[in-house]
Amino acid sequence: MPTSLASKPYRIGRSKTGLGLFATQPIKKGVKIVEYFGPLLDSKNEKHDAIENKYLFQISKRWTVDGSVRKNIARYINHACKPNAESDVNPAKKKIIIRSIKKIEPGEEINYDYGTEYFKEYLKPIGCKCDACEAKRKKKRAKLRAEKLKAKQKAERKEAKQAEKAKRKKDKAKARKADVKKALKKAPKASAKKAKSSKAKSSKAKASKAKASKAKSKKS
Ligand SMILES: [Zn+2]
Repeated sequence: MPTSLASKPYRIGRSKTGLGLFATQPIKKGVKIVEYFGPLLDSKNEKHDAIENKYLFQISKRWTVDGSVRKNIARYINHACKPNAESDVNPAKKKIIIRSIKKIEPGEEINYDYGTEYFKEYLKPIGCKCDACEAKRKKKRAKLRAEKLKAKQKAERKEAKQAEKAKRKKDKAKARKADVKKALKKAPKASAKKAKSSKAKSSKAKASKAKASKAKSKKS
């Protein structure tokens, strides 16, 4: 194995958000992976202070590293909210070291937390695409889906219940109609008319029936 690989246990590769830095060898916890470097910008220098890009890494109030230079391989390292590396800033030496904070396996993407300021300015507006945030979003989506499904099933159950109730009502009405029809068919036409009219005047009939029964009781 070439020694250059041993000194550089990473490669640039495709990541979810474009390019990223990936481990090519196991990297132990607490090991320097790469330095984040570039021209030092002095905030007291107006020209320096006017420089604006995504790769500025502030070391102190006064000093900032402009990491946008191509040679700065560390600029390929993407942000993660639950990273496997960290940026170790040494203000006295004006140096930034990217160091592993857990064991990193070959093929794993190397990442570190860019900090709240960067997150708020660049990541929050478009949504952080790190694994932790993707997992969180996935969980949220699954929960929403489950809730939606539950609501749908509840609505369906309610609908079915209502349909069942309506059907029972309809069947009952049908049965009643069928009974009347049967009765009409069995009875002669004249009496059928009677039955119809008696039904219409059922209250009167009832009243007269009551009278009749009273008369009966008197008789007996
Ligand atoms: Zn994230």
